[in-house]
Amino acid sequence: MMEDFDVIIVGSGPAGVSAAFPLVAAGWKVLMVDGGEVPSGKLPQQSFLEARTSDPEQWKWMVGENFHALSMREAVSPKMRVASHSHVFSGFNQHNRINAENFISVGSLAPGGLSNAWGCGVAKFSSAELDQFPFPSTALDIAYQSVAKRMGISGPRGDDLSDYFGLDSCSQAAIDMDPMHQSMFGKYGANRVYLHKLGVRFGRSRLAALSADHNGRQGCNLSGNCLYGCDRGALYSATDDLRALKKFTNFHHLALVVDGIRKNADGWSIDGQFEQVGKTFSASKILLAAGTIASTRLALKTLDLQNPVRLLSCPTAAFVLCLPSFFGAARTPAFGFGQISFVLSLREDVSALGATFATSGLPLSEFARYMPLRRRYGIDLLKSLLSSCVVGNLFLPGHLSDNQARLDQDGVLQIKGGYHHETDDLLTTAHARLRKAYRRLGAYMLPTSFTAGKPGGDIHYAGTLPMRKNPIPGESDASGQLFGLAGVYVVDGACLPVLPEKSHTLTIMANAHRIACEMVTGA
Ligand SMILES: Cc1cc2nc3c(=O)[nH]c(=O)nc-3n(C[C@H](O)[C@H](O)[C@H](O)COP(=O)(O)OP(=O)(O)OC[C@H]3O[C@@H](n4cnc5c(N)ncnc54)[C@H](O)[C@@H]3O)c2cc1C
Repeated sequence: MMEDFDVIIVGSGPAGVSAAFPLVAAGWKVLMVDGGEVPSGKLPQQSFLEARTSDPEQWKWMVGENFHALSMREAVSPKMRVASHSHVFSGFNQHNRINAENFISVGSLAPGGLSNAWGCGVAKFSSAELDQFPFPSTALDIAYQSVAKRMGISGPRGDDLSDYFGLDSCSQAAIDMDPMHQSMFGKYGANRVYLHKLGVRFGRSRLAALSADHNGRQGCNLSGNCLYGCDRGALYSATDDLRALKKFTNFHHLALVVDGIRKNADGWSIDGQFEQVGKTFSASKILLAAGTIASTRLALKTLDLQNPVRLLSCPTAAFVLCLPSFFGAARTPAFGFGQISFVLSLREDVSALGATFATSGLPLSEFARYMPLRRRYGIDLLKSLLSSCVVGNLFLPGHLSDNQARLDQDGVLQIKGGYHHETDDLLTTAHARLRKAYRRLGAYMLPTSFTAGKPGGDIHYAGTLPMRKNPIPGESDASGQLFGLAGVYVVDGACLPVLPEKSHTLTIMANAHRIACEMVTGA
Protein backbone atom coordinates (compact mmCIF):
# COMPACT_ATOMS: atom_id res chain seq x y z
CA MET A 1 0.00 0.00 0.00
CA MET A 2 1.31 3.44 -0.97
CA GLU A 3 0.91 6.48 1.28
CA ASP A 4 1.59 9.83 -0.37
CA PHE A 5 2.94 13.07 1.07
CA ASP A 6 4.04 16.37 -0.40
CA VAL A 7 7.37 16.08 1.38
CA ILE A 8 9.23 13.42 3.33
CA ILE A 9 11.84 14.83 5.72
CA VAL A 10 14.48 12.31 6.77
CA GLY A 11 15.57 13.37 10.27
CA SER A 12 13.96 15.27 13.16
CA GLY A 13 17.10 17.04 14.41
CA PRO A 14 17.53 20.84 14.31
CA ALA A 15 17.69 20.83 10.47
CA GLY A 16 14.60 18.66 9.95
CA VAL A 17 12.31 20.55 12.33
CA SER A 18 13.47 23.92 10.99
CA ALA A 19 12.54 22.88 7.45
CA ALA A 20 9.22 21.42 8.63
CA PHE A 21 7.68 24.54 10.20
CA PRO A 22 7.29 26.64 7.01
CA LEU A 23 6.03 23.62 5.04
CA VAL A 24 3.45 22.62 7.64
CA ALA A 25 2.35 26.25 8.08
CA ALA A 26 1.76 26.43 4.30
CA GLY A 27 -0.57 23.40 4.55
CA TRP A 28 1.76 20.86 2.92
CA LYS A 29 1.33 17.23 3.93
CA VAL A 30 4.63 16.40 5.63
CA LEU A 31 6.02 13.05 6.80
CA MET A 32 9.03 13.26 9.12
CA VAL A 33 10.96 10.07 9.86
CA ASP A 34 13.77 9.44 12.32
CA GLY A 35 15.61 6.46 13.73
CA GLY A 36 13.35 6.50 16.78
CA GLU A 37 15.80 5.61 19.60
CA VAL A 38 14.14 6.86 22.80
CA PRO A 39 15.60 7.60 26.27
CA SER A 40 15.29 5.32 29.26
CA GLY A 41 16.07 6.13 32.89
CA LYS A 42 15.26 9.11 35.07
CA LEU A 43 17.30 12.24 35.72
CA PRO A 44 17.98 13.51 39.27
CA GLN A 45 15.39 15.93 40.63
CA GLN A 46 17.79 17.84 42.88
CA SER A 47 20.97 19.70 41.90
CA PHE A 48 23.93 17.68 40.64
CA LEU A 49 25.99 18.32 43.79
CA GLU A 50 23.11 17.38 46.13
CA ALA A 51 22.29 14.25 44.16
CA ARG A 52 25.96 13.21 44.23
CA THR A 53 26.01 13.34 48.04
CA SER A 54 22.52 11.99 48.82
CA ASP A 55 20.99 9.94 45.99
CA PRO A 56 21.43 6.20 46.65
CA GLU A 57 20.26 5.46 43.09
CA GLN A 58 22.74 7.83 41.45
CA TRP A 59 24.65 5.02 39.79
CA LYS A 60 21.64 4.56 37.50
CA TRP A 61 22.12 7.98 35.85
CA MET A 62 25.87 8.26 36.43
CA VAL A 63 26.88 4.95 34.88
CA GLY A 64 23.58 3.52 33.65
CA GLU A 65 21.91 0.24 34.45
CA ASN A 66 23.85 -1.43 31.63
CA PHE A 67 27.12 0.32 32.72
CA HIS A 68 27.11 2.48 29.59
CA ALA A 69 29.40 5.15 31.07
CA LEU A 70 32.03 2.55 31.92
CA SER A 71 32.01 0.88 28.54
CA MET A 72 32.37 4.29 26.80
CA ARG A 73 35.53 5.35 28.69
CA GLU A 74 37.38 6.27 25.52
CA ALA A 75 34.60 8.51 24.13
CA VAL A 76 35.74 12.04 23.27
CA SER A 77 33.01 14.10 24.88
CA PRO A 78 31.91 13.50 28.49
CA LYS A 79 28.35 13.69 27.12
CA MET A 80 28.84 10.52 25.14
CA ARG A 81 29.61 8.66 28.35
CA VAL A 82 26.54 10.01 30.18
CA ALA A 83 24.07 7.16 30.54
CA SER A 84 20.99 9.34 29.98
CA HIS A 85 22.33 10.21 26.50
CA SER A 86 23.20 6.69 25.41
CA HIS A 87 20.07 6.50 23.20
CA VAL A 88 21.25 9.62 21.32
CA PHE A 89 24.35 7.96 19.88
CA SER A 90 23.56 4.26 19.88
CA GLY A 91 23.44 2.29 16.64
CA PHE A 92 24.13 5.28 14.38
CA ASN A 93 27.21 4.04 12.51
CA GLN A 94 25.99 0.47 12.35
CA HIS A 95 22.50 1.26 10.96
CA ASN A 96 23.75 3.97 8.61
CA ARG A 97 26.60 1.72 7.42
CA ILE A 98 29.41 4.12 8.27
CA ASN A 99 32.98 3.04 8.84
CA ALA A 100 35.61 5.51 10.05
CA GLU A 101 39.39 5.47 10.14
CA ASN A 102 41.25 8.07 12.23
CA PHE A 103 37.91 9.89 12.58
CA ILE A 104 35.43 9.89 15.47
CA SER A 105 32.14 9.51 13.65
CA VAL A 106 29.30 10.79 15.82
CA GLY A 107 25.66 10.85 14.77
CA SER A 108 22.23 10.12 16.11
CA LEU A 109 19.22 7.94 15.45
CA ALA A 110 17.06 9.63 18.09
CA PRO A 111 14.08 11.93 17.67
CA GLY A 112 15.67 15.39 18.02
CA GLY A 113 19.05 13.99 16.94
CA LEU A 114 22.29 15.31 18.42
CA SER A 115 20.52 18.35 19.88
CA ASN A 116 19.53 16.07 22.78
CA ALA A 117 23.16 16.19 23.83
CA TRP A 118 24.64 19.34 22.35
CA GLY A 119 26.33 22.25 24.14
CA CYS A 120 23.80 24.92 23.05
CA GLY A 121 26.50 27.31 21.72
CA VAL A 122 24.96 29.55 19.02
CA ALA A 123 26.27 32.16 16.58
CA LYS A 124 25.31 33.80 13.30
CA PHE A 125 27.76 33.50 10.43
CA SER A 126 29.24 36.90 9.43
CA SER A 127 28.48 38.42 6.04
CA ALA A 128 32.07 37.55 4.97
CA GLU A 129 31.40 33.90 5.87
CA LEU A 130 28.03 33.97 4.10
CA ASP A 131 29.62 35.53 1.00
CA GLN A 132 30.87 32.03 0.22
CA PHE A 133 27.27 30.78 -0.05
CA PRO A 134 25.58 30.93 -3.50
CA PHE A 135 22.88 33.38 -2.37
CA PRO A 136 22.94 36.94 -1.00
CA SER A 137 24.06 36.99 2.66
CA THR A 138 20.90 38.91 3.55
CA ALA A 139 18.78 35.91 2.48
CA LEU A 140 19.37 34.34 5.90
CA ASP A 141 18.43 37.43 7.95
CA ILE A 142 14.73 36.62 8.40
CA ALA A 143 15.45 32.90 8.81
CA TYR A 144 17.96 33.57 11.63
CA GLN A 145 15.39 35.75 13.40
CA SER A 146 12.60 33.25 13.06
CA VAL A 147 14.68 30.28 14.26
CA ALA A 148 16.27 32.21 17.14
CA LYS A 149 12.84 33.40 18.31
CA ARG A 150 11.47 29.85 18.26
CA MET A 151 14.37 28.25 20.14
CA GLY A 152 15.04 31.02 22.70
CA ILE A 153 18.58 32.37 23.11
CA SER A 154 20.34 33.93 26.09
CA GLY A 155 23.41 36.16 26.22
CA PRO A 156 24.40 39.70 27.06
CA ARG A 157 24.02 42.85 24.97
CA GLY A 158 26.91 45.01 23.89
CA ASP A 159 30.01 43.11 24.99
CA ASP A 160 33.23 42.55 23.02
CA LEU A 161 31.78 39.54 21.17
CA SER A 162 28.46 41.15 20.17
CA ASP A 163 29.47 41.61 16.53
CA TYR A 164 31.07 38.19 16.38
CA PHE A 165 27.95 36.33 17.56
CA GLY A 166 25.47 38.78 16.01
CA LEU A 167 22.59 37.76 18.29
CA ASP A 168 22.11 40.66 20.71
CA SER A 169 18.82 41.80 19.19
CA CYS A 170 17.11 38.47 19.89
CA SER A 171 18.66 37.40 23.22
CA GLN A 172 17.23 37.07 26.71
CA ALA A 173 19.52 38.14 29.57
CA ALA A 174 22.64 35.99 30.07
CA ILE A 175 22.49 33.13 32.58
CA ASP A 176 24.30 33.97 35.85
CA MET A 177 28.01 33.13 35.98
CA ASP A 178 29.57 31.08 38.78
CA PRO A 179 32.02 32.86 41.16
CA MET A 180 35.15 31.77 39.24
CA HIS A 181 33.86 33.06 35.92
CA GLN A 182 32.69 36.27 37.63
CA SER A 183 36.20 36.74 38.99
CA MET A 184 37.88 36.17 35.59
CA PHE A 185 35.42 38.42 33.79
CA GLY A 186 35.84 41.10 36.45
CA LYS A 187 39.53 41.36 35.51
CA TYR A 188 38.86 41.60 31.79
CA GLY A 189 38.11 45.35 31.63
CA ALA A 190 41.41 46.37 33.22
CA ASN A 191 43.40 44.09 30.88
CA ARG A 192 41.45 44.63 27.69
CA VAL A 193 44.16 46.61 25.86
CA TYR A 194 46.84 44.00 26.58
CA LEU A 195 44.51 41.14 25.62
CA HIS A 196 43.38 42.77 22.39
CA LYS A 197 47.05 43.23 21.43
CA LEU A 198 47.48 39.51 22.05
CA GLY A 199 44.59 38.94 19.64
CA VAL A 200 42.08 37.74 22.27
CA ARG A 201 38.60 39.09 22.96
CA PHE A 202 36.42 37.75 25.74
CA GLY A 203 32.64 37.91 26.14
CA ARG A 204 29.72 35.95 27.57
CA SER A 205 28.73 32.80 25.68
CA ARG A 206 25.62 32.97 23.48
CA LEU A 207 23.45 29.95 24.17
CA ALA A 208 20.26 28.22 23.13
CA ALA A 209 19.62 27.92 26.87
CA LEU A 210 16.97 29.98 28.63
CA SER A 211 17.49 32.39 31.52
CA ALA A 212 13.70 33.02 31.65
CA ASP A 213 10.61 30.99 30.70
CA HIS A 214 9.92 30.77 26.94
CA ASN A 215 7.51 28.73 24.76
CA GLY A 216 6.44 26.42 27.62
CA ARG A 217 10.03 25.81 28.74
CA GLN A 218 11.46 27.10 32.04
CA GLY A 219 14.56 29.19 32.64
CA CYS A 220 17.79 27.71 34.04
CA ASN A 221 17.84 27.06 37.82
CA LEU A 222 21.63 26.54 37.97
CA SER A 223 21.20 22.91 39.03
CA GLY A 224 24.47 21.87 37.37
CA ASN A 225 22.70 18.98 35.61
CA CYS A 226 23.34 20.36 32.09
CA LEU A 227 25.59 17.49 31.10
CA TYR A 228 22.80 15.00 31.83
CA GLY A 229 19.81 16.96 30.50
CA CYS A 230 17.44 19.57 31.87
CA ASP A 231 14.00 18.47 33.04
CA ARG A 232 12.91 22.16 32.96
CA GLY A 233 13.59 22.32 29.22
CA ALA A 234 16.00 25.25 29.68
CA LEU A 235 18.37 23.67 27.14
CA TYR A 236 16.95 23.67 23.59
CA SER A 237 16.40 20.30 21.95
CA ALA A 238 14.72 19.73 18.58
CA THR A 239 12.36 17.37 20.45
CA ASP A 240 10.67 20.56 21.79
CA ASP A 241 9.91 21.53 18.20
CA LEU A 242 8.92 18.01 17.22
CA ARG A 243 6.32 18.11 20.00
CA ALA A 244 4.97 21.40 18.61
CA LEU A 245 4.89 20.05 15.04
CA LYS A 246 2.91 16.99 16.10
CA LYS A 247 -0.01 19.28 16.95
CA PHE A 248 -0.59 19.99 13.22
CA THR A 249 -2.95 17.56 11.46
CA ASN A 250 -0.93 17.78 8.21
CA PHE A 251 2.26 16.70 10.02
CA HIS A 252 3.04 13.00 10.47
CA HIS A 253 5.94 11.43 12.31
CA LEU A 254 7.23 7.87 12.11
CA ALA A 255 10.12 5.96 13.63
CA LEU A 256 12.04 4.23 10.87
CA VAL A 257 15.62 4.01 9.67
CA VAL A 258 15.90 4.96 6.00
CA ASP A 259 18.40 2.92 4.02
CA GLY A 260 17.81 4.45 0.61
CA ILE A 261 15.59 6.64 -1.51
CA ARG A 262 14.16 5.63 -4.88
CA LYS A 263 12.65 7.39 -7.88
CA ASN A 264 9.13 6.24 -8.78
CA ALA A 265 6.54 7.35 -11.34
CA ASP A 266 5.23 10.26 -9.25
CA GLY A 267 8.27 11.30 -7.26
CA TRP A 268 10.34 9.59 -4.58
CA SER A 269 9.89 6.80 -2.05
CA ILE A 270 11.98 5.71 0.89
CA ASP A 271 13.38 2.25 1.68
CA GLY A 272 14.24 1.13 5.14
CA GLN A 273 13.48 -0.70 8.31
CA PHE A 274 9.79 0.09 8.73
CA GLU A 275 7.55 -0.67 11.66
CA GLN A 276 4.65 -0.61 9.15
CA VAL A 277 5.49 -3.72 7.13
CA GLY A 278 3.99 -3.65 3.65
CA LYS A 279 3.66 0.14 3.38
CA THR A 280 5.59 2.42 1.03
CA PHE A 281 5.92 6.11 1.73
CA SER A 282 6.15 8.35 -1.26
CA ALA A 283 6.41 12.10 -1.92
CA SER A 284 7.23 14.53 -4.70
CA LYS A 285 10.09 15.92 -2.61
CA ILE A 286 12.58 14.36 -0.20
CA LEU A 287 14.47 16.55 2.26
CA LEU A 288 17.65 15.02 3.64
CA ALA A 289 18.12 16.15 7.27
CA ALA A 290 19.69 13.00 8.71
CA GLY A 291 22.82 14.85 9.92
CA THR A 292 25.79 15.56 7.62
CA ILE A 293 27.27 12.06 7.54
CA ALA A 294 24.03 10.07 7.22
CA SER A 295 22.63 12.45 4.58
CA THR A 296 25.89 12.14 2.63
CA ARG A 297 25.59 8.39 2.45
CA LEU A 298 21.95 8.53 1.32
CA ALA A 299 22.80 11.13 -1.34
CA LEU A 300 25.91 9.35 -2.68
CA LYS A 301 24.02 6.06 -2.79
CA THR A 302 21.14 7.59 -4.74
CA LEU A 303 23.57 9.34 -7.10
CA ASP A 304 25.59 6.12 -7.39
CA LEU A 305 28.69 8.26 -6.88
CA GLN A 306 31.88 6.66 -5.60
CA ASN A 307 34.25 9.63 -5.85
CA PRO A 308 35.65 10.78 -2.50
CA VAL A 309 34.01 13.94 -1.14
CA ARG A 310 35.53 16.39 1.34
CA LEU A 311 34.11 16.35 4.88
CA LEU A 312 34.70 19.51 6.90
CA SER A 313 35.15 19.34 10.67
CA CYS A 314 36.74 21.76 13.16
CA PRO A 315 40.08 20.79 14.75
CA THR A 316 39.71 21.14 18.52
CA ALA A 317 41.71 21.32 21.73
CA ALA A 318 40.80 21.26 25.43
CA PHE A 319 42.56 22.59 28.55
CA VAL A 320 42.15 23.07 32.30
CA LEU A 321 42.60 26.39 34.13
CA CYS A 322 43.25 26.77 37.84
CA LEU A 323 42.34 29.96 39.78
CA PRO A 324 44.54 29.84 42.89
CA SER A 325 42.40 32.41 44.70
CA PHE A 326 39.60 29.79 44.80
CA PHE A 327 41.80 26.99 46.11
CA GLY A 328 39.79 24.92 48.64
CA ALA A 329 36.55 26.91 48.03
CA ALA A 330 33.24 25.04 48.30
CA ARG A 331 31.71 23.89 45.01
CA THR A 332 28.41 25.61 44.22
CA PRO A 333 25.79 24.49 41.64
CA ALA A 334 26.27 26.35 38.37
CA PHE A 335 25.24 26.42 34.74
CA GLY A 336 27.22 23.60 33.15
CA PHE A 337 27.83 24.82 29.59
CA GLY A 338 29.98 27.65 28.19
CA GLN A 339 30.00 30.69 30.46
CA ILE A 340 32.72 32.93 29.02
CA SER A 341 33.73 32.64 25.37
CA PHE A 342 36.90 33.87 23.68
CA VAL A 343 37.78 34.63 20.09
CA LEU A 344 41.48 34.36 19.35
CA SER A 345 42.84 35.79 16.14
CA LEU A 346 45.73 33.53 15.07
CA ARG A 347 46.37 34.86 11.58
CA GLU A 348 44.58 37.29 9.33
CA ASP A 349 42.55 34.41 7.93
CA VAL A 350 42.31 32.09 10.99
CA SER A 351 40.49 32.60 14.30
CA ALA A 352 39.72 30.17 17.10
CA LEU A 353 36.56 30.19 19.21
CA GLY A 354 36.38 28.63 22.65
CA ALA A 355 34.67 28.77 26.01
CA THR A 356 35.21 27.79 29.63
CA PHE A 357 32.90 25.60 31.71
CA ALA A 358 32.33 25.02 35.43
CA THR A 359 33.47 21.66 36.79
CA SER A 360 30.73 21.48 39.43
CA GLY A 361 28.45 19.41 37.20
CA LEU A 362 31.10 16.83 36.33
CA PRO A 363 31.98 13.68 38.25
CA LEU A 364 35.50 13.78 39.72
CA SER A 365 36.24 10.45 38.08
CA GLU A 366 36.30 12.37 34.76
CA PHE A 367 39.62 13.85 35.86
CA ALA A 368 40.92 11.25 38.33
CA ARG A 369 42.14 8.97 35.57
CA TYR A 370 44.61 11.66 34.43
CA MET A 371 46.19 12.10 37.89
CA PRO A 372 49.71 10.68 38.27
CA LEU A 373 48.69 9.28 41.69
CA ARG A 374 46.96 6.20 43.03
CA ARG A 375 43.20 6.64 42.53
CA ARG A 376 42.40 7.29 46.21
CA TYR A 377 45.03 10.02 46.61
CA GLY A 378 44.21 11.39 43.18
CA ILE A 379 40.55 11.84 44.19
CA ASP A 380 41.54 13.54 47.48
CA LEU A 381 43.76 15.99 45.64
CA LEU A 382 41.14 16.66 43.00
CA LYS A 383 38.50 17.44 45.63
CA SER A 384 40.46 20.53 46.64
CA LEU A 385 41.92 21.29 43.22
CA LEU A 386 38.76 21.06 41.10
CA SER A 387 36.87 23.55 43.24
CA SER A 388 39.32 26.12 41.84
CA CYS A 389 39.33 24.87 38.22
CA VAL A 390 37.38 25.47 35.03
CA VAL A 391 37.74 23.52 31.79
CA GLY A 392 38.05 25.11 28.37
CA ASN A 393 37.85 24.13 24.72
CA LEU A 394 38.67 25.70 21.40
CA PHE A 395 37.63 25.18 17.78
CA LEU A 396 39.52 26.03 14.59
CA PRO A 397 37.84 26.54 11.19
CA GLY A 398 36.82 23.51 9.13
CA HIS A 399 39.19 24.24 6.21
CA LEU A 400 42.01 23.07 8.53
CA SER A 401 40.57 19.55 8.52
CA ASP A 402 41.53 17.02 5.88
CA ASN A 403 38.77 14.38 6.01
CA GLN A 404 37.33 12.39 3.13
CA ALA A 405 34.15 10.34 2.77
CA ARG A 406 33.66 7.77 0.01
CA LEU A 407 30.87 5.30 -0.69
CA ASP A 408 32.38 1.89 -1.35
CA GLN A 409 31.01 -0.78 -3.65
CA ASP A 410 29.17 -2.46 -0.77
CA GLY A 411 27.30 0.75 0.05
CA VAL A 412 29.35 1.52 3.16
CA LEU A 413 30.42 5.15 3.70
CA GLN A 414 34.16 5.03 4.41
CA ILE A 415 35.50 8.09 6.25
CA LYS A 416 39.20 8.88 6.60
CA GLY A 417 40.13 11.64 9.02
CA GLY A 418 43.08 14.02 9.15
CA TYR A 419 44.18 17.60 9.78
CA HIS A 420 45.78 20.14 7.47
CA HIS A 421 49.57 20.37 7.96
CA GLU A 422 49.27 23.91 9.46
CA THR A 423 46.98 22.78 12.28
CA ASP A 424 49.70 21.72 14.75
CA ASP A 425 51.49 25.08 14.50
CA LEU A 426 48.26 27.02 14.89
CA LEU A 427 47.37 25.01 18.01
CA THR A 428 50.83 25.63 19.46
CA THR A 429 50.38 29.38 18.93
CA ALA A 430 46.86 29.25 20.40
CA HIS A 431 48.17 27.42 23.47
CA ALA A 432 50.91 29.99 24.13
CA ARG A 433 48.62 33.01 23.67
CA LEU A 434 45.78 31.60 25.75
CA ARG A 435 48.18 30.75 28.59
CA LYS A 436 49.26 34.40 28.69
CA ALA A 437 45.74 35.76 28.27
CA TYR A 438 44.19 33.73 31.09
CA ARG A 439 47.13 34.56 33.37
CA ARG A 440 45.96 38.19 33.16
CA LEU A 441 42.52 37.03 34.34
CA GLY A 442 44.02 35.23 37.36
CA ALA A 443 43.84 31.74 35.87
CA TYR A 444 46.81 29.40 35.24
CA MET A 445 46.65 26.80 32.51
CA LEU A 446 47.58 23.48 34.12
CA PRO A 447 50.85 22.26 32.59
CA THR A 448 50.26 19.46 30.06
CA SER A 449 46.47 19.96 30.16
CA PHE A 450 46.30 21.54 26.67
CA THR A 451 45.45 18.59 24.40
CA ALA A 452 44.44 18.47 20.74
CA GLY A 453 41.33 16.42 19.92
CA LYS A 454 41.15 13.61 17.35
CA PRO A 455 39.63 14.38 13.92
CA GLY A 456 35.84 14.25 14.13
CA GLY A 457 35.73 14.73 17.91
CA ASP A 458 34.37 18.28 17.45
CA ILE A 459 31.09 16.87 16.05
CA HIS A 460 30.71 19.97 13.85
CA TYR A 461 30.49 18.29 10.45
CA ALA A 462 29.60 19.96 7.17
CA GLY A 463 30.30 20.54 3.53
CA THR A 464 30.08 17.09 1.89
CA LEU A 465 27.42 18.12 -0.67
CA PRO A 466 28.15 21.86 -0.77
CA MET A 467 25.78 24.43 -2.25
CA ARG A 468 27.34 26.04 -5.31
CA LYS A 469 26.18 28.53 -7.90
CA ASN A 470 27.06 26.07 -10.67
CA PRO A 471 26.94 22.65 -8.99
CA ILE A 472 28.40 19.43 -10.38
CA PRO A 473 27.43 15.86 -9.34
CA GLY A 474 27.85 15.53 -5.57
CA GLU A 475 26.99 19.21 -4.99
CA SER A 476 23.73 21.03 -4.43
CA ASP A 477 22.37 24.31 -5.76
CA ALA A 478 21.34 27.42 -3.84
CA SER A 479 17.97 25.83 -3.08
CA GLY A 480 19.66 22.75 -1.57
CA GLN A 481 18.59 20.57 -4.53
CA LEU A 482 21.12 17.88 -5.41
CA PHE A 483 22.60 18.18 -8.88
CA GLY A 484 21.03 15.52 -11.09
CA LEU A 485 18.32 14.53 -8.58
CA ALA A 486 15.31 16.81 -9.12
CA GLY A 487 13.16 16.76 -6.00
CA VAL A 488 15.90 15.69 -3.54
CA TYR A 489 17.07 18.49 -1.26
CA VAL A 490 19.85 18.61 1.33
CA VAL A 491 18.86 20.81 4.27
CA ASP A 492 21.43 19.95 6.95
CA GLY A 493 25.13 20.70 7.43
CA ALA A 494 26.03 18.61 4.37
CA CYS A 495 25.06 21.54 2.11
CA LEU A 496 27.11 24.24 3.91
CA PRO A 497 29.92 25.31 1.55
CA VAL A 498 32.10 26.55 4.44
CA LEU A 499 32.55 25.73 8.13
CA PRO A 500 34.02 28.52 10.28
CA GLU A 501 35.26 27.94 13.82
CA LYS A 502 31.87 29.13 15.07
CA SER A 503 29.03 26.92 16.32
CA HIS A 504 27.18 26.09 13.12
CA THR A 505 23.84 24.59 14.19
CA LEU A 506 21.93 27.90 14.21
CA THR A 507 23.09 28.47 10.61
CA ILE A 508 22.08 24.92 9.63
CA MET A 509 18.63 25.67 11.06
CA ALA A 510 18.31 29.08 9.43
CA ASN A 511 19.37 27.64 6.07
CA ALA A 512 16.88 24.76 6.35
CA HIS A 513 14.16 27.32 7.16
CA ARG A 514 15.22 29.43 4.14
CA ILE A 515 15.14 26.44 1.77
CA ALA A 516 11.65 25.41 2.98
CA CYS A 517 10.32 28.99 2.68
CA GLU A 518 11.60 29.19 -0.89
CA MET A 519 9.98 25.83 -1.66
CA VAL A 520 6.64 27.13 -0.42
CA THR A 521 6.81 30.38 -2.39
CA GLY A 522 8.26 28.65 -5.43
CA ALA A 523 11.17 31.14 -5.42
C1 LIG B 1 28.29 16.70 22.59
C2 LIG B 1 27.87 17.64 21.46
C3 LIG B 1 28.02 19.00 21.63
C4 LIG B 1 27.64 19.88 20.60
N1 LIG B 1 27.69 21.21 20.84
C5 LIG B 1 27.27 22.08 19.89
C6 LIG B 1 27.23 23.47 20.15
O1 LIG B 1 27.49 23.92 21.27
N2 LIG B 1 26.84 24.30 19.16
C7 LIG B 1 26.49 23.83 17.92
O2 LIG B 1 26.16 24.63 17.05
N3 LIG B 1 26.48 22.51 17.66
C8 LIG B 1 26.85 21.63 18.61
N4 LIG B 1 26.82 20.28 18.38
C9 LIG B 1 26.43 19.83 17.05
C10 LIG B 1 24.90 19.82 16.87
O3 LIG B 1 24.31 18.94 17.80
C11 LIG B 1 24.61 19.40 15.44
O4 LIG B 1 25.18 20.38 14.58
C12 LIG B 1 23.12 19.36 15.13
O5 LIG B 1 22.43 18.51 16.00
C13 LIG B 1 22.93 18.88 13.69
O6 LIG B 1 21.58 18.87 13.40
P1 LIG B 1 21.01 17.95 12.24
O7 LIG B 1 19.53 18.15 12.26
O8 LIG B 1 21.73 18.24 10.99
O9 LIG B 1 21.40 16.45 12.62
P2 LIG B 1 21.13 15.58 13.91
O10 LIG B 1 20.94 16.42 15.11
O11 LIG B 1 22.21 14.57 13.92
O12 LIG B 1 19.74 14.86 13.60
C14 LIG B 1 19.68 13.81 12.66
C15 LIG B 1 18.29 13.22 12.61
O13 LIG B 1 18.27 12.30 11.53
C16 LIG B 1 17.78 11.05 11.94
N5 LIG B 1 18.46 10.01 11.14
C17 LIG B 1 19.78 9.79 11.00
N6 LIG B 1 19.98 8.77 10.15
C18 LIG B 1 18.74 8.36 9.74
C19 LIG B 1 18.27 7.34 8.87
N7 LIG B 1 19.10 6.56 8.19
N8 LIG B 1 16.92 7.17 8.74
C20 LIG B 1 16.05 7.97 9.40
N9 LIG B 1 16.44 8.95 10.23
C21 LIG B 1 17.77 9.14 10.39
C22 LIG B 1 18.05 10.96 13.42
O14 LIG B 1 17.12 10.08 14.03
C23 LIG B 1 17.88 12.43 13.84
O15 LIG B 1 16.51 12.67 14.08
C24 LIG B 1 27.15 19.37 19.37
C25 LIG B 1 26.99 17.99 19.22
C26 LIG B 1 27.33 17.13 20.25
C27 LIG B 1 27.11 15.65 20.08
